[in-house]
Amino acid sequence: MKRNNLQEDKTLFESIKKERKRRNDTLEMIPSENHTSPAVLEAMSTILTDKYAEGYPKKRYYGGNEYIDEVEVLAQKRAQRLFNVPFANVQPYSGSPANMAVYLACMEPGEKVLGMNLKAGGHLTHGWKVSFSGIYYDSAFYGVSEETERIDLEEVEKIAKKEKPKLIWVGGSAYPREFDWKGFSKIADEVGAYLAADIAHIAGLIVAGVHDSPAKHVDVITTTTHKTLRGPRGGMVMVTEKGLNKDSDLDKKINKAVFPGLQGGPHEHQIAAKAVCFKEALEDDFEDYGRKVVENNKKLADELMSNDFRLVTDGTDNHLCLIDLRNKNIGGKKAEELLELAGITINKNSIPNDPAKPFNPSGIRIGTPAITTRGMGESEMVEIAQIMTSVLDKKSEKEAKKARKKIKKMAEEFSLPYDI
Ligand SMILES: *Cc1c(COP(=O)(O)O)cnc(C)c1O
Repeated sequence: MKRNNLQEDKTLFESIKKERKRRNDTLEMIPSENHTSPAVLEAMSTILTDKYAEGYPKKRYYGGNEYIDEVEVLAQKRAQRLFNVPFANVQPYSGSPANMAVYLACMEPGEKVLGMNLKAGGHLTHGWKVSFSGIYYDSAFYGVSEETERIDLEEVEKIAKKEKPKLIWVGGSAYPREFDWKGFSKIADEVGAYLAADIAHIAGLIVAGVHDSPAKHVDVITTTTHKTLRGPRGGMVMVTEKGLNKDSDLDKKINKAVFPGLQGGPHEHQIAAKAVCFKEALEDDFEDYGRKVVENNKKLADELMSNDFRLVTDGTDNHLCLIDLRNKNIGGKKAEELLELAGITINKNSIPNDPAKPFNPSGIRIGTPAITTRGMGESEMVEIAQIMTSVLDKKSEKEAKKARKKIKKMAEEFSLPYDI
C-alpha cells in the first residue's frame, strides 16, 4: 500500500504552510487562542487516531483497547490532580459538547436553565436561543449591572428565585473580571439548582493559582482544553465532591450523557494530547505562565486606558480586555480589519448593553494567552498598546501597513517554538 506524507498533497500543504507563516509573522491576540507545545502536536498526530474505543476504560465495545485504556486513564488521573476533583470525563470533542453533556445528565428537555446573557459576555451554550441549549431547554438569563458592568449577585439571586432553574451556569467568554463561585453556590443551594462552572477561558489561570478554583463551590466543572490551558482543541467535564454529595450518581450520569448520549468513538489521539497538556500544566513553570498572562494583560489594559481607551469595567482581572470603542469613533468591525492589516489578530465583540448590531458591534476583545506563550513581557505590552493606539486613532490603511512592519519584527524576535 502506498503511504503518502503530507508534503505530497501540495495543494493542502501550501495552505498549511501559509497559515504557519501567518502565525509566525503576526500576533495572536484573540483571548480564546493559544500556541500548543510540540509535544501536544505530536500526540495529536499519532496512530491513536485510528482506534475505535466506544465506552470507557475496561468497559469498551471494541477489542484491542489495552493501551488505549492506559492513555485515557492517564488523562483522567492527571485532570483530577490538576483540578483537585474526584471525577473527570475527558472524552468531549470540544467545549460545547462538554456543556451539552451537563444538560443531558442533569435536566429533562423543557426544564429551565439560568445562564449569563450572551450580550453580557456569556456563551451560546448557556441557553441562547439559536443554540441547542435554548432550543431544547427553557432559558433565563442574568446580565451585568449597567453601572458597574459586573455581575450583581443580588440581581442573580432575584432572578434565580423567580425562575427556579434546574441548572445555573457561571462562566463566560467575554467577562474581564473574576467570578464569585461562593456567591453563586449560595444562590444555587437556596433554589435547589445544580451549579456548573464553565471555565473554558480561565482554566489555565485557575490551575496556575492566579484565580480561585470553583472546585469547592460548584457541582460540575466544564472546560475546553485549548484556551488558557494551552492543550489540543477539546473539552472535558468534571464532577466535584460537592456534586457527588448532592447526587451520588452524577459521575455516572455524565459518563452516560457523553457516551452513548451524545458521542460515538472517543478521539483517543486528542485524549493523549490532553494528557500531555495536563502534564505540562502540572509543572511548576505553568504557574509562571498563568501569572504572566494576567500581568501582561493588566499592563496592556493600563497602557490602553492611559491612551484614552475605555475598557468595560475600567480594567481586567484576567487574560482579556473588552474595549468600548465608541469614544474613538470607530466600529468593532473596522477596528478588527485595521488591526488584522497591522498583524494583530483580535475579534470584534459586543459590549454590555451594546446599542450596535452584533455584526458591527461597539467593541473589540483582546487578550494575552498566546503572546505570553511566545515569551513576551511588559515592555512588549507597552509597544503593542502604542501600535494599537496609532492604528485605531489614525484609522488609515497606510498607518496599519506601517505598523505591520513593527509587528513582524516583534514576532520574529519572539518566534514560535515549533515548525509544524
Ligand atoms: C469557548 C467556550 C466554550 C465552547 O468551546 P468550543 O470548544 O468552541 O465548543 C464554552 N463555554 C465558554 C465559556 C467558552 O468560552
